[in-house]
Amino acid sequence: MSAWDPRAAIAAKRDGRSLPQDEVERLVLAYASGEVDDGPMAAFLMAVLLNGLDEGETLAMTRAMIDSGDKVSFGDLGRPAVDKHSTGGVADGVTLVFAPLAAALGLAVAKLSGRGLGHTGGTLDKLEAIPGLSTDLEPARIARQVREIGCAVAAQTPRLVPADGAMYSLRDATATVPSIPLIAASVMSKKLAVSSDLIVLDVKAGSGAFMKTRDAAGELADACRELARGAGRRCGVAITNMDQPLGDAVGNALDVAEAVEVLRGTHRGDLRDLSVWFAARALEATVEESFEAASARAARALDDGSALERFGRMIQAQGGDPRVVDDPSAVLPRAPLVRPVVVPRGGTVTAIDAEDIGLAAGALGAGRIRKADPIDPAVGIVIRPKIGDQVETGDEIGEVHARTEDAAEGAIRRTLAALSLGEGPTPRPELVLGWREPPPA
Ligand code: URA
Repeated sequence: MSAWDPRAAIAAKRDGRSLPQDEVERLVLAYASGEVDDGPMAAFLMAVLLNGLDEGETLAMTRAMIDSGDKVSFGDLGRPAVDKHSTGGVADGVTLVFAPLAAALGLAVAKLSGRGLGHTGGTLDKLEAIPGLSTDLEPARIARQVREIGCAVAAQTPRLVPADGAMYSLRDATATVPSIPLIAASVMSKKLAVSSDLIVLDVKAGSGAFMKTRDAAGELADACRELARGAGRRCGVAITNMDQPLGDAVGNALDVAEAVEVLRGTHRGDLRDLSVWFAARALEATVEESFEAASARAARALDDGSALERFGRMIQAQGGDPRVVDDPSAVLPRAPLVRPVVVPRGGTVTAIDAEDIGLAAGALGAGRIRKADPIDPAVGIVIRPKIGDQVETGDEIGEVHARTEDAAEGAIRRTLAALSLGEGPTPRPELVLGWREPPPA
């Protein structure tokens, strides 16, 4: 039998025509199985980036991506199961805090996370900075851990949504990542392939996100919700600000150390606030607690050590050194050089290019350009001021953790270049820009 010819489907998208849903499914499955290779698929993805996909085509693509692999069900976890996912940001350690926090509050979080790509960081890379920790967990082990502790954060297996793995790498290599239907299909295929009672999405908008504007993020949020609705799943979507790094630490070990401080209740700021916000939304939607009461309970779980205790148990269950919760700096890998970032003049912080900071941390070795690249867990950048803060000439606003003096100098230069200073007051940006509630249970 001769191989299927994808050219008619590519030409239809090139010319802006709609494809029958079975043609979209056919193409995705043929690519996942190797029947169609990278060249034609890259042409198709570029045509989609330029001309879009309608709702039916996006749903068909998502369905085919799910059907390219196994579906995972963790069975009854004994508590409402919540899956949370971010579309990717800089210093976005929310999952590290959210998973143990939600567990401490009575929810189950069985989460399959991703790795960092381009300028964005990834939860798996951060967690794997903890010596001994493994994210390579079989579904039965994830279910057991979640029943015992309430949370597990694991890597996708090669058998789960393999079409997304292949398409994502190809999109990364062909500059076709920032397409709303392609991101929606990619994110939602991974969420819909795994059973949960509630999906909570964090669609990032701003300089450090794939969606640079609030409008584009809103469109992505709607597309994701539509896919969840089509699959009969409950999904709430937040649009949150990524116009500056969310936390202070952009790296992997550095992110873990910051998350531990948030879990200990000693670190205030946007990372804590957004983690509490998501935990409260998840409780509101699953156990019908009021958002205000749930927020207060979540803040208490950070301040009284119960979320940190869950984190320690999760780390230990996954083979990591649990002493990381008591003394992160004694356990986590450390870069040989730590150099201060000093501002040459004072002013009000008016903007921080989060993508540039992410790229500068990546150039130190904290991120990867291609999916298979190794990363250096120890290096990264800490940058403390946020938009609206005042800095004085000569202030030490953070530090660079690097392997060589040259690398440190380059990162300091890029960090300072990413920071815009002005005169007079600048309002602090809102953290949560929008929230589409999940439908009633
Ligand atoms: N995160 C994903 O999982 N997929 C995308 O396409 C972008 C961000």
